[in-house]
Amino acid sequence: MDTVFNCTQCGKCCHDLNIPLTISEAKDWLLRGHKLKILTEATPWINDVQSTDDLLLRKKSLTFQAQSGALSIRVLVSLVGYFQGGCPNLDSNLNCTIYSVRPLTCRIYPFEMNPKIILNPKNKLCPSEAWQTNENTSALNTANQIFIIDSYTKSNIEKIYTTSVDSVTAKMLICKELGICTSSLSNDGYLFHFPDQEKLSGILDKFSLRDASSAPNAPDDVDWIIYTQKAVTLNDLQAIGSNAAYPNQHSISPEEFITL
Ligand code: SF4
Ligand code: SF4
Repeated sequence: MDTVFNCTQCGKCCHDLNIPLTISEAKDWLLRGHKLKILTEATPWINDVQSTDDLLLRKKSLTFQAQSGALSIRVLVSLVGYFQGGCPNLDSNLNCTIYSVRPLTCRIYPFEMNPKIILNPKNKLCPSEAWQTNENTSALNTANQIFIIDSYTKSNIEKIYTTSVDSVTAKMLICKELGICTSSLSNDGYLFHFPDQEKLSGILDKFSLRDASSAPNAPDDVDWIIYTQKAVTLNDLQAIGSNAAYPNQHSISPEEFITL
């Protein structure tokens, strides 16, 4: 059954958010006086293995190579605008005051950036009226649904992906500059870093996408620590040589580390 999405402009998706931003969006976000944090996520990786798996290739393109002890990993870095309650860009009538230049992530909601993730309306903030099927039913049964994505959204999803790929090395350099070398394990938890905003702003100015292209696959020489709250995961990581630890061993607060 085809399902078409029509935004009702209810504004729910502009509240209590973590918004992944491109480097240039992150600069603008800070210039507007809003808050930015950095999310790091590590995936254990076997180097030099040829794979045709789409998910693995996609992950590789979005991450940089690093080491955690003897373990090879790939690190995903996201610049995240965040706020509690309404977005600081909302006016009193709940209209976005930067609508024409709003972040790409805002432009694609509720669709997923990763084409492999199946869109489930039940996980989205949009009211049922926003989802319309070609049989005029409002039932939100996700089974066998085909979602029609308009070309504008499609091109923005593509833009997020290509910009993210182009900024991998710049993000590695941003982490180095900020002394960030700790991470969560992919699909295990989230580790957020809260750098000094002024310092971060200066560093973002320093690293443009142009810097990234000069060293697209530069390896990182830093020894990354991977945090997990789970004893089994910690044991497994340490058994394969990773420099892994419990967050509380290094005074990581609950605000910084969130277990999945
Ligand atoms: S920037 Fe605009 S569209 Fe994005 S969350 Fe804020 S108010 Fe909503
Ligand atoms: S929650 Fe969904 S329907 Fe409401 S404004 Fe956001 S995208 Fe539109």
